[in-house]
Amino acid sequence: MHLPGPVLVTGGNGYVASWVVKRLLELGLDVHATVRDPDDPRKTAQLTALARDSSGSLSFFRADLLDPDGFDAPMLGCGLVFHIASPLIVRSVEDPVRDLIEPATAGTRHVLEAANRTPSVRRVVLTSSIVAIYGDASDLEQIAGDRFDESHWNTTSSERHQPYSYSKTLSERLAWEMAGRQSSWDLVVLNPGLVLGPGLSPNTRAEGVLMMLDFGRGYYRFGAPDLEFAVVDVRDVAEAHLRAALTPQASGRHILVSESLTLIRIAEVLRERFGGDFPFPQRTVSNLAALMLAPRQGIPQAVARRNLGYPLRFDNGRSRAVLGMTYRPARESVVDHFRQLLDDGLVTPPG
Ligand code: NAP
Repeated sequence: MHLPGPVLVTGGNGYVASWVVKRLLELGLDVHATVRDPDDPRKTAQLTALARDSSGSLSFFRADLLDPDGFDAPMLGCGLVFHIASPLIVRSVEDPVRDLIEPATAGTRHVLEAANRTPSVRRVVLTSSIVAIYGDASDLEQIAGDRFDESHWNTTSSERHQPYSYSKTLSERLAWEMAGRQSSWDLVVLNPGLVLGPGLSPNTRAEGVLMMLDFGRGYYRFGAPDLEFAVVDVRDVAEAHLRAALTPQASGRHILVSESLTLIRIAEVLRERFGGDFPFPQRTVSNLAALMLAPRQGIPQAVARRNLGYPLRFDNGRSRAVLGMTYRPARESVVDHFRQLLDDGLVTPPG
């Protein structure tokens, strides 16, 4: 696919989006990045440095997902839109509607309405999530087969139960509805699993980063809950964004997952690579104990109950076939990510 004019990346400073911006700049493209505060160097410094070292060019635009007109100016002349911005809060959500559902859905509506008003836009790549495909690992028992695929939708999350997952489900459904009501741009959706791997800024606080910090800071020192995560590397997620944009026949949803790992398997990988002195867990705690402890980590007991001890499996065949994706082993993402937290001083070696 030829990329006419500039390309827009919403939430350009985020963990995933920074990698997408980096790759676009390396292709020599003119990247328009929206951020909430372009004057905050903690949010923009990594991108400014990337632009300096690449053949592409970068402009920042101030835009909040709640602003109905905020995306018109940054989208002007763009052929391609990557809508990546969305609030990502999984633990201790204060007000699910205000903090997650409203910004996620209003943001999708505002970005796509701006696309409808911008004749140059030909394709929108939306960063959804596997949590728009399933709600809890126990949902796997309700489907035919032993793994989730793109035909599945999350039907079990709500404002009160897994509100982040609900916000992603509502946003993706809205995007498909709006795409179906017009014919000037097409929609390609990506559904990444838990994203791990080195970020481009030490200020990144996405969910996978918090999980790796938990390991380094000894949160699981007395044992890890029996939870499984479907992991994908941030560099592979960025690659998938480029392929979704540049593959003319791409359409529909694409699960982006390398493999599923339990918390105790992640601990084993970390111990093998970084040695036994870190407070990595040595054992899995019983589901009963994990259930009792969950609220202390801001995880409601209903969420713990529907996920503890359940396997979590995804079919990534469509992203391999349509986008030609290959995936780094999850072990590499875990090791590279932890190494970065050490290098950035966010985790200190014991002793
Ligand atoms: P992140 O680093 O927290 O990025 C989220 C981005 O959304 C940030 O740029 C943030 O801006 C922006 N944002 C949040 N609320 C906003 C608002 N009201 N107005 C404007 N911008 C707003 O997390 P990420 O992992 O890169 O997430 C990027 C996308 O990937 C999201 O759509 C997320 O749902 C999806 N995803 C992530 C994962 C994962 O494991 N990380 C997995 C699957 C899907 P500020 O920096 O100003 O807050």
